[in-house]
Amino acid sequence: MSNDELYVAIDVDVVDTWVALVNPFGQIKGDLKKPSHSFKEDRGIKSAIAIMQELLKSKSVKPENIRGIGISTPMLEVKMKDRSTVLPFLYMAHFKHEFPNTLVRAAADVTLMALAEFNITYQSAPKSLYYLNWGSGIGGGIVLNGRIWPGAHGVASNIGHLPIKGVGMKCWCGHTDCLTTYAAGEILPIHYFKMLESMKPKNYKSPFEGKSQKDVTFIDIMKASAAGDVIATKVFDMATTAMAKALSIVVNLFNPELILIGGAVAGASSDLVNMVSQKTKTDLMFPETHKTAIVPSKIHRAGLLGAYQFVFANAKAQQGKKVGKALKAVKK
Ligand SMILES: [Zn+2]
Repeated sequence: MSNDELYVAIDVDVVDTWVALVNPFGQIKGDLKKPSHSFKEDRGIKSAIAIMQELLKSKSVKPENIRGIGISTPMLEVKMKDRSTVLPFLYMAHFKHEFPNTLVRAAADVTLMALAEFNITYQSAPKSLYYLNWGSGIGGGIVLNGRIWPGAHGVASNIGHLPIKGVGMKCWCGHTDCLTTYAAGEILPIHYFKMLESMKPKNYKSPFEGKSQKDVTFIDIMKASAAGDVIATKVFDMATTAMAKALSIVVNLFNPELILIGGAVAGASSDLVNMVSQKTKTDLMFPETHKTAIVPSKIHRAGLLGAYQFVFANAKAQQGKKVGKALKAVKK
């Protein structure tokens, strides 16, 4: 295998770090997945490097034969002694230091998910798309004319912290009324128990009787809402209305051809995407903005694929080659 043209793709999330060897046809030639370490220190980065080295060794591939390393990580702020940065940049710096002669590229997972969706699901259709990842947290990525738009400083598209006025809840980022405080998966059980306390509906029997907030997940809330529970339905309505407000800003501002909604919250409810799509349209300005299609995402764990596509496209660009056709051949 050592003579093949090979790339390394790395997808880091809160649960695990997934490293794969990928050939120029997008085929995974070997992979290794291990639990992720905390993002607060560099143990996670050292572990990702160790996982990569273990994978290369098991496949008898020398690190100097790797054409490029693509890395997908959550977009999190990392505070250090003298400055602060974001996780993708920190991974990139460490990997460049460790592999100085190899092309290294890193970006936010949601941005690379957007790229993977663009290249695979909609390879010939849209020129612009917005990918929304709606899970325990909320993030998004932009693709414009086939290329990611990470922003001038690498932190664009942070939809989860758009201010949506109303409830006045404090967000973990320090601001008040971020979209995250209404719609992030991890927040939905908190809203359920708050509403239960304040509404106390007559003859109401909670599906979570005897349970505390910690025992209930957003998937439980979605299921209860689908079963007609009155409070879970209110939580569902609040979350979808807040998300629609945020997406109407995306459409009025950016007017993409397509918005794709993925992530665990979206996946937990069959009518959530439809509901959000309908609600978003009520906040749009011009008739033309209604042409933006809002549909469910079709691929899962796309960060790995996006990481590969990102570094592959950069490697080919350095050689003065276009990659359109090569990426269209990639299969998930
Ligand atoms: Zn926030």
